[in-house]
Amino acid sequence: MSDKRDYYEVLGVERDADARTIKRAFLKKAREVHPDVSDDPDAEMKFKEVNEAYSVLSDEQKRANYDRFGTADGMGGSGYVDFSDIFGGMGMDDIFSSFFGGGAAGGHAGRQQRRQGRDMAISLSVTLEEAAQGCTKTISYDRLAPCEDCHGTGLAEGAKEEPCKRCHGTGYVTQVQRSIFGQVQSSAPCPDCHGEGTVIDHPCDMCDGQGRTPTHEKLDIKVPAGISSGRQLRVSGYGEAGYRGAPAGDLIVSVEVERHDRFERHGDDLYLDLSVSMVQAALGCTVEVDGIMPDERVSMHVPAGSQPGALVTVEGRGMPRIGGGGARGRLVARVKVVVPTELSAEARQALERYEEAVGEDFERKRSVGDRIRDAIDDILD
Ligand SMILES: [Zn+2]
Ligand SMILES: [Zn+2]
Repeated sequence: MSDKRDYYEVLGVERDADARTIKRAFLKKAREVHPDVSDDPDAEMKFKEVNEAYSVLSDEQKRANYDRFGTADGMGGSGYVDFSDIFGGMGMDDIFSSFFGGGAAGGHAGRQQRRQGRDMAISLSVTLEEAAQGCTKTISYDRLAPCEDCHGTGLAEGAKEEPCKRCHGTGYVTQVQRSIFGQVQSSAPCPDCHGEGTVIDHPCDMCDGQGRTPTHEKLDIKVPAGISSGRQLRVSGYGEAGYRGAPAGDLIVSVEVERHDRFERHGDDLYLDLSVSMVQAALGCTVEVDGIMPDERVSMHVPAGSQPGALVTVEGRGMPRIGGGGARGRLVARVKVVVPTELSAEARQALERYEEAVGEDFERKRSVGDRIRDAIDDILD
């Protein structure tokens, strides 16, 4: 891949070509070499080449890098991210298949289904902090968007759209076939208007009369506070654009909340482990922990005599309830009692005095204490 062709040469544009010229040239070239329409045995490779050239030249940053360094990611830098992979959205190849292969135009689908753009689905990952506060995330994905040149009409300037003469505007034609059962009538999409019912005398040359073009879309998604994994946000009209200005589909964003290294989420409640010393557990203590919100500190009161695994709950410091007007779930700490593994001479004496003070009543527990002490002795020896 070292002797790659120059991207400008691939698309057949000047080095100072503007964005529209580049897009136009790209669509023209892509239509020529797309494997669905081209007989050229190298069509697939050529299509990839055209696609790659466009993905670089259509992105300001990548194009600037390419102009300066000859590569899209600059001086062997970190490389650019292909969001269509990350978000699991439709790739450019799928977009093109529906653009050229008429994927949206199913055989019997009829006019309605053919015209309307399809819904698209992508996934979006947010951190637990982002889910707690709500956030705006910029996503980018590929879709068929309304054509900028003809505003989705598919018409070149001054062109007209008229009822198709062959099918009289119905969009389909009736075929009569003879069979052993006699004559069979069937209807098929009209070959003149491709089921549209109308024909245009001069189609827009940017979109080839479709009213939509493959576009790399950037979109801000508002993620509400309290969102949880599996929730879907619907962005109306940002799915696939409709054929010749028909309604677009929606973009459905599936939100995935990442795991957190400190908090475990159960519904609107947040759980965390709280380590206290055995003395703190015995005497009770108040521990301040970081909450999920920025700069939030939460006091957790561990009552005297808390056993390992005891739960300490603070109301209203968990995750916000989605649409709950600021209401929040609980923050729950699981008490972990830390038994010291190394003791200074002083600490050891203190524990021995403690054991004496506890006295005969705790004989049964003493034997446990003895065993712990023996174990500690073993470590110290
Ligand atoms: Zn027709
Ligand atoms: Zn157009």
